[in-house]
Amino acid sequence: MLTSFTIVCKYSSEKNNSVTNITIIYVDKITKVNVLLVSEKTIERLCLYRRFLRELRVQRTTYAYSHQLAKMAGLTAAQVRRDIMAIGYYGSPVRGYEVEKLLESISDFLDGPDSLGVALIGVGNLGRSILAYLNRRNSRLNVTAAFDTNPEKIHRVIVSCHCFPLEDYPRVVREKNIHSTIIAVPADQAQPVADLIVKSGVKGILNFAPVHLSVPEEVFVENIDMAIALEKVTYFAQQDNKARAER
Ligand code: NAD
Repeated sequence: MLTSFTIVCKYSSEKNNSVTNITIIYVDKITKVNVLLVSEKTIERLCLYRRFLRELRVQRTTYAYSHQLAKMAGLTAAQVRRDIMAIGYYGSPVRGYEVEKLLESISDFLDGPDSLGVALIGVGNLGRSILAYLNRRNSRLNVTAAFDTNPEKIHRVIVSCHCFPLEDYPRVVREKNIHSTIIAVPADQAQPVADLIVKSGVKGILNFAPVHLSVPEEVFVENIDMAIALEKVTYFAQQDNKARAER
């Protein structure tokens, strides 16, 4: 179990300011200081394991082997063991990993020991779906505040989340310990909204608007674009069809 840790992110200007490596300096239960280098890919895989562990918990499974997690994630058991060892958790060779304890360790590692607030800006069609999806999961990462500029939405509770006027964002960030914000506003509003997020001291942005955001190096932006993902899938589906036709 981790007791405290410091995260140092290394950014690459060639990779659109994205994080390439994350160094974690942590103190474990026997108060030894350890330094780890955790890649962005490892973080993604840990998020995936957490999702599968939650499913196992719902099925009332108490223990899981690395090969079970590997099968669910489409990885090798050795990769799973390496990732889990990287966060200082060890399973039993006989019984595997204790689902509840591993979930707790991964959550401590990914989210930190305190619950961190997440905000959403733009409570339209997409914003409402995001709220419904994220807030029904049993997670420490719930959207705790939503923001919009439409007077018909302001000060209403939408999908169980209070919608504040956008100008309240800096105050609510401080009061609700908000560390990340989801952008779901029209494309032409995304950059001014990102500027407000940065000015308010928030360092993580999940951007659904189809625009490139200019932010300082220390701010981590993850872009999600369903249209581009679909274009990619369609391209590879065609390649596969061509390859099949040539066989
Ligand atoms: P929408 O018009 O239904 O909702 C937009 C919301 O943002 C509205 O409630 C509006 O009042 C609010 N808004 C506008 N300007 C704002 C501002 N400056 N500050 C705060 N709130 C503001 O649009 P939508 O369909 O929900 O799409 C939202 C964004 O998500 C668009 O940029 C769209 O292109 C994008 N989108 C992305 C994906 C994806 O896969 N990434 C999928 C669908 C939509």
